[in-house]
Amino acid sequence: MGRITLDKVTKSFGDIQVIPPLDLTIDDGEFVVFVGPSGCGKSTLLRLIAGLEDVTTGQIRIDREDATHLPPAKRKLAMVFQSYALYPHMSVRKNIAFPLKMAGMDKAEQDRRIEAAAEVLNLTDYLDRRPGQLSGGQRQRVAIGRAIVREPAAFLFDEPLSNLDAALRVGMRLEISELHKRLTTTMIYVTHDQVEAMTMADKIVVLQAGRIEQVGTPLELYRTPRNIFVAGFIGSPKMNLIGGAEAAKHDAQTIGIRPEHLTISAEGGDWTGKVGVSEHLGSDTFFHVTVPGFAEPLTVRASGEVDLHYGDTVHLTPEMQHLHRFDAEGLRIE
Ligand code: ADP
Ligand code: MG
Repeated sequence: MGRITLDKVTKSFGDIQVIPPLDLTIDDGEFVVFVGPSGCGKSTLLRLIAGLEDVTTGQIRIDREDATHLPPAKRKLAMVFQSYALYPHMSVRKNIAFPLKMAGMDKAEQDRRIEAAAEVLNLTDYLDRRPGQLSGGQRQRVAIGRAIVREPAAFLFDEPLSNLDAALRVGMRLEISELHKRLTTTMIYVTHDQVEAMTMADKIVVLQAGRIEQVGTPLELYRTPRNIFVAGFIGSPKMNLIGGAEAAKHDAQTIGIRPEHLTISAEGGDWTGKVGVSEHLGSDTFFHVTVPGFAEPLTVRASGEVDLHYGDTVHLTPEMQHLHRFDAEGLRIE
């Protein structure tokens, strides 16, 4: 079981409150991602849950039990860090066994758990190697293996993939998602990368300055961002945000339209502009179009077949059913 509840939790370092009162429930078996810009409090929140930091006020419950003042070892949670901190002189088997040995577990049970974890992580053939003889991805799997054998109530990951190169990151992302499907254990995963959040999470928690801006499934956040911050943070390339007279026409302070919800054409259309830089990804092309009177160029997603060039005059039409409207406080207008 791994249901985790935060009730009016706050955290201050000295006089500085980095987490204002925060409520959050993580259900048993959920894959929850904390996402937000660097310094927004993701690691602090995870460390509070792990017990590596004490809350300043509030309560943390794990499976309904008050865990607020339990030491980390008593919380039945396993943390996987960005730097995987393996012992270089020990074999993979010994690295994975380490927490079990420390806990004084009998050898037969240790072996059973190690072999089961190695099986799940495709490390069976590598148990006798040393970390130095493994790739970065395999080393990360060993670190995860060390967490799995403890059979925790939940796994806590703090940016575990940020040391890996881009291709490996995509592979590991899939592996961790796959692992979650197989183990069905609660996972809390911290990242500043909204693509990781979107692709891995059952539930995303968007944080800014220690506050929860929105909690929801990836598609809820994508379709109905509660405010301009979430609208701009979730989605790649970013949602176009337009103010001034164009927004006022729609009774809003700011309107938002995603690049994929703008149609580009040679004639007709609502807004006329000039093509600036184009980004050709093969299947898609992103055109950056400057429209007179708009503060920022608009990003438009078009098919890779569309043949337009720098300086061409084009017309853009927003799909009205996908137009987002925000008020003067930056909150979504329904
Ligand atoms: P994130 O993981 O989202 O990048 P952190 O949780 O590491 O952010 O940090 C949140 C804020 O708390 C930052 O402003 C950071 O400087 C501050 N902070 C984190 N740990 C400490 C600490 N031990 N002492 C003082 N300030 C800290
Ligand atoms: Mg961090």
